[in-house]
Order: sequence, then C-alpha cells, then structure tokens
Amino acid sequence: MPIYDAFHRAITYLRVSITDRCNLRCRYCVPKEGIKKLPHEEILRYEEILRIVKIAAQMGFKKVRITGGEPLVRKNLVYLIEKIGKIEGIEKVCLTTNGVLLPEMAADLYKAGLRHINISLDTLNPEKYAYITRVNVFGRVLKGIKKAIEIGFNPVKINVVLMKGFNDDEIVDLAKLSLTMPLAVRFIEFMPLNHTQIVYENAFLSAEEAMQKLKKLGDLEEIPSSPLDGPAKRYKIKGSLGEIGFITALSNHFCHKCNRLRLTPDGQLRPCLFSDQEWDLKTPLRQGADDAKIRAIIEDAIAHKPKNHGYVKFATHRPMSRIGG
Ligand code: SAM
Repeated sequence: MPIYDAFHRAITYLRVSITDRCNLRCRYCVPKEGIKKLPHEEILRYEEILRIVKIAAQMGFKKVRITGGEPLVRKNLVYLIEKIGKIEGIEKVCLTTNGVLLPEMAADLYKAGLRHINISLDTLNPEKYAYITRVNVFGRVLKGIKKAIEIGFNPVKINVVLMKGFNDDEIVDLAKLSLTMPLAVRFIEFMPLNHTQIVYENAFLSAEEAMQKLKKLGDLEEIPSSPLDGPAKRYKIKGSLGEIGFITALSNHFCHKCNRLRLTPDGQLRPCLFSDQEWDLKTPLRQGADDAKIRAIIEDAIAHKPKNHGYVKFATHRPMSRIGG
C-alpha cells in the first residue's frame, strides 16, 4: 500500500540526484564558473542510496529516477542502476542525462537493466548548443540519442527547455524528430530557479504558445497517460513514430497529482522542487539509524508535502544541479 500525503496523493516516485557535478554549464542552470562543489564526503555513497531506496520501496515507492548534476559523470553508475532495478517493489528505473557520455555508456546501462532514458537537448543547431551549454558537444549528444534508440531503450525522451529568443524558432523542427524516430519530444516550461543566467521574464514561453506553433503540423491527437507516467500532456502528430509532450510546471501546474519526493546528492529529502524545506536523511543514516527511524523521516517528509508550489519566483536557494532536475 502506498503512503498518501495530506492531500490524498499517493507518493510513489523517488527522484534521486546522485551528484552535483556536471560536464555542461547550461546558462539556464548554472553560472559560467559553475557552483561550488559539495565535498565528496557530503555526497551519499551508493550503499546509502540503495538503503534509502529499499526502505522507500517497502513503503510503496514504485518508480526511481536517477538524475543530477550529470549522473553519467559519477563512477560505477551501472552498478547502482543494476542494484536499484533488483529492489523488490521498484517497477520502473529511469535516468535523466545530458547524453554527452551516452555513446560509450549506453550499452552497459542497457545491460544493467535500464530501459527508460530522458536526454536533454534544447536545440538542433550545434552553435546554439555550444552557446547554451557552453560546451561544444552537440555531435556527441546526437550520437548518444541515436545509440539509445538503436540499442533498444524505450522510451527515449528528449527534454527541451522552451526559451523565447533561443529555441522558439525550432519548436516545429524539434517536434518533427518524433515523426521519423521513436522519440518522445517533451517541451518543458522554463522555471525561475536560482542561478539561472537567462532573464526569466524575457525567456519564458508557455507550452500553450509552443503548441500554437505546432498547429502547422496538423491536428495533434491526445494520448492518455497512465499513473506511472510523468506530468507531461502527451500528443501524437498523425502518422509519427514517436510523440510529443508538454510539461507545464508554471502555466498550469500539476501539483494536485504530484507523486514525487526528491533525494539530493547530500542526502536531503525535498517534498517539493520549489520549496527549500528539507528532511535530513544523511545524518541519521551515518549515525546508525535503524530502518524504522529512516522510514519515519520519509513519512514525515511526505506528511508535510505542500499542497502546491504556488508561484513563488526563485523560491529555492539550492541550485538545480544540487536538487536534481
Ligand atoms: N544533467 C542531466 C540533464 O541534463 O538532463 C540531469 C540534470 S538537469 C538539472 C535535469 C533537467 O532539468 C534538464 O532537462 C534541464 O534542461 C532541466 N532544467 C535545468 N534548469 C532548468 C530551468 N531553469 N527550467 C527548466 N528546466 C530546467
């Protein structure tokens, strides 16, 4: 039986950020010089993460997403994925990555049991990619996406952050990727998080506006979502191999069906991306707390999950790279 929060939401999805390190410096996420790194000893060890996931699974969590920072830069990720996939009760293990290291890692991740992969790609133009991420690796990411499809990952989702003046002229081309490739292209509204170097007020583009631009591709058929699907509103362009989706954290927030809890790299549980309220799991774990104690902390975090994030600009003081997107 899953655990319900105070607003009758069953909390079954744990997003685990395994590192604050990243090999890109996306302008909407971090400043050029990056953000001061957490000391190594502050970051949860794999054994600690596995223990938390095991306890969460016993509490009814069914889905785990590994994210970061950039999860592929952490050593032995394949080991972690394999172990999480074997935890009783976990039905779905997913990974969010920028795809830079996928060409060499995709096969091993697949062998470890991973099937669900989200790859971030905000533009199809190599120069614009180098501008927004500050690293010239567009070709590697494209290769990683192709490799993921070829190896058999399913679904392969492409995360596109919508930004006026940056990729609003590419929305149709990005959506068209789903015509010939079995991809889910998901347009994500730009969120006003701390440390962004892009002026939010100038760049925000609503999913509604993006959808208008897609009208020229013909009628979009809506696809119904299942409970373990994320918050994306899903559509299909007629005759396409893949699909497109919209994630509207701000214009039409989906808090009423939010089923998530986040675990930060330094072992803090966050019931809401936009709220800095956190529950410390690392200290009790390292002080020898038993499973009942860890479970009680997770239950308390769930009990205090806010009803919604409202619309509080820069509500979080942690950068995205330290929460896990
Ligand atoms: N490094 C991995 C990646 O690039 O996918 C995982 C971590 S990254 C923080 C997760 C996702 O958050 C990416 O798709 C990224 O585009 C998105 N993201 C980061 N900052 C954002 C912002 N201010 N608004 C919307 N999405 C954002």
